[in-house]
Amino acid sequence: MNSVKESINDLFQTRPLQSDEYLNETDKLIYCSKCRTPRQCKIEHSDKIIMLPILCKCQREADEQKEADFQKRQRLIQIERLKANGLQDRNLHDYTFENDKGYNPEEIKKAHRYVTEWDRMKSENRGLLLWGNVGTGKTYIAACIANALIEQGVSVLMTNFSKILNTLSPIYNGDRNAFIDSLNQYSLLIIDDLGVERNSDFALEQVFSVIDSRYRCKKPLIITTNLTIDEMNHADLAHMRIYDRILERCTPLMVNNQNIRKLNAEMNLKEARKLLSGKRID
Ligand SMILES: [Zn+2]
Repeated sequence: MNSVKESINDLFQTRPLQSDEYLNETDKLIYCSKCRTPRQCKIEHSDKIIMLPILCKCQREADEQKEADFQKRQRLIQIERLKANGLQDRNLHDYTFENDKGYNPEEIKKAHRYVTEWDRMKSENRGLLLWGNVGTGKTYIAACIANALIEQGVSVLMTNFSKILNTLSPIYNGDRNAFIDSLNQYSLLIIDDLGVERNSDFALEQVFSVIDSRYRCKKPLIITTNLTIDEMNHADLAHMRIYDRILERCTPLMVNNQNIRKLNAEMNLKEARKLLSGKRID
């Protein structure tokens, strides 16, 4: 036992006290004077007692805080990257549940539910088909889902077939497949305004390729369209093979309460008239 005692004494010699420390006479360990917890622990190794440095409570808390700050910064960087990548039209960044003006309360509630149930939607490969007249807020609702999921770190791409066709037109067949495959790297693909793209054989073939490859990779797809379900159900053969896949995987949600664009335009006109007549606008 003598050798153990000697080694304890040896070790006490080796470590001078810092200005914010004191030696606890009871256990002979160095303590932090701020949080009064030890900065050393004793370990018995062969017949020696070794003193190991440990973090006191406030050092541990400072470390945890630093790690949490780092993680938070990394998360913000990741979300910014996902947003820049997936919502290239910057106007879409403002289309959020928080900014919603309540034009489509029921539909927004369902869209919100899609986000809260995302894990299930993803594993069961369930998408949405937001359909209804022009200007009723389908794009807004789809972008709300995109923004909310991106905030959770989910990779989402929101695009439309005009953009996709512009990219596909000038490139060769093999590269086209690579581009279409790249769309499937996103956990959620949102295609806005299906049905307004040009109707050439080439366009139809590419639209089919995109929808079919999404269908086969078993990842969710959200579509917005001005087409009615009836129109989709009674399309010609070339369109039918596209719509069939969409209708199989995307739950239809009608967005048709009112024409928000028209409403906003009327409101703007009213304000402009007031402004011109010199009346105050509240
Ligand atoms: Zn401390």
